[in-house]
Amino acid sequence: MIHKKVIALVFISAQISCLVAHADTLFVDANGYTLDVSNKLLHFQAMAIDDAGRVLATGSNAQMKKKYATATQFNLAGKTLLPGLIDAHGHIIELGFAENQLGLRATNNLHEAQQAIAVYTVKYPQHQWLLGGEWNQEIWKLGRFPTAHEIDSVVADRPVWLRRVDGHAGWANTKALLAAGITPTTPDPVGGKIERDANGDATGILVDEAMSLIDRVLPAQNDTERRSALDAALSQMRQVGLTTVHDAGVSAEMDQLYREYATQGKLTTRVYGMISGVDKFFDEVSANGPGPGPLTSWADDKYALRAVKLYSDGALGSRGAALLQPYSDAPQTKGLLFSSDEAMRSMVAKAALKGYQVNVHAIGDAGNRQVIQSFAQLPASADASKLRHRIEHAQVLALSDIPQVAKLNLIPSMQPTHATSDMNMAEDRVGKERIKGAYAWRTFLKQGSKIACGSDFPVENPNPFWGIYAAVSRQDFTQKPDQGWHPEQGMTVIEAFRCFTIDAAYAGHQEKFLGTLEKGKWADFIVVDQDLFKIPVKDIYKTSVLQTWQAGRQVYKK
Ligand SMILES: [Zn+2]
Repeated sequence: MIHKKVIALVFISAQISCLVAHADTLFVDANGYTLDVSNKLLHFQAMAIDDAGRVLATGSNAQMKKKYATATQFNLAGKTLLPGLIDAHGHIIELGFAENQLGLRATNNLHEAQQAIAVYTVKYPQHQWLLGGEWNQEIWKLGRFPTAHEIDSVVADRPVWLRRVDGHAGWANTKALLAAGITPTTPDPVGGKIERDANGDATGILVDEAMSLIDRVLPAQNDTERRSALDAALSQMRQVGLTTVHDAGVSAEMDQLYREYATQGKLTTRVYGMISGVDKFFDEVSANGPGPGPLTSWADDKYALRAVKLYSDGALGSRGAALLQPYSDAPQTKGLLFSSDEAMRSMVAKAALKGYQVNVHAIGDAGNRQVIQSFAQLPASADASKLRHRIEHAQVLALSDIPQVAKLNLIPSMQPTHATSDMNMAEDRVGKERIKGAYAWRTFLKQGSKIACGSDFPVENPNPFWGIYAAVSRQDFTQKPDQGWHPEQGMTVIEAFRCFTIDAAYAGHQEKFLGTLEKGKWADFIVVDQDLFKIPVKDIYKTSVLQTWQAGRQVYKK
């Protein structure tokens, strides 16, 4: 009985969708590209979408104008049309907050940084704390970390807290150290390090978990600040052509905000959320969510919360990444694992057994090995062949561990711009031998792994064309080094395009409705000012987004 009713309903809804066909839109005179089911590049001139915002078909101008004769036409005047790009690893609210904070990325030396701090201090007299970051002592050629006194000489009356470019270390002034209650007797927290001088006094640099000593005394962001940060981030993301972003760390507050924005049609970039950790918020949402357990879709696929984000180690720049053997340029340290193997296994199992995809940050070869071994122990019902578990960054792997990634169906979620930002430092850290398993995109592709590409913004710039450029060239914007840094690991343009579209969608269980412009998928697409597949590689990063569309609705126009 029930069965017959269902069939009748399907029949009726098919009739209704025929009736509304006159509300279709036809984009013509486009230089359109998408990938097809076999990952081949498909060229088209016209694309029809229905009034719900889904793709009906792509084809030639003549063909499509005839077939969709009554559709409203939208002429793209030969401009290049691509599927919306997907960043598989970004930090959305942090991107928004970074807008209002002090950015030191452009500083070339410590002196310039001090000047920038001084200017910022004068500009924001009302800020209790002066916050910011993106500094990099490697670029400053300092040969050491900066110190608290070097901020004190510019601003000593208010606390200052500045994160390193990789987010895995912070630089505090004396006032901030005092506010955090850090004294010579404060022990290093598990998974963290307080840098100290010969007398045992904190120098002002706090690595990984030690940063939480400061974070916990920072004034909390309120709802108004969060909303304005989210608005700022959404504006940036649609301008660079990101139609979906995987948020690598969603809090309870952000979950509420995403749901609200999605319902109200304000989430102009779709968000695929990873719950931060498996603590209180995970317990709540996995048990009591609207429909307990993973949220696979909310408000027409605008939002999902079906993954969990964990950390196994820190970053290479601050030597917090966990290595199997000591650092090549600091033989006294191997970095830090954040948790014991046992604790990592149990966190991974806790999330996976509830049906969540588990995405674990792992940079060093010891960090990656711990994660791989944790995934290897999952029962078949919760393993990666079902839940598509991911290694976030998968940056330095022992060569013997790489085949495990394919064998266990794990997805390496990698950030091409990390390679070009790190290339001056990475080989110093790990040496000539271990670098062979670092940023090893070609090795992963060769063994059949699907790579999900992203930027890790605001650690890197969110512009996905910078990512595609880095993936293909492995060079900086001045085309250095000449042939690219370890060019043998570079991708083709189509491969890079794939990992920022369909393979990123796959890494979010969304390849059936996002990632390409095929019939039935959401019409998320962008119009850009140059033909990605015809221009010289050196120009890829200059690509500018002219229009961004989400489900057939224009959300950005240059
Ligand atoms: Zn990240």
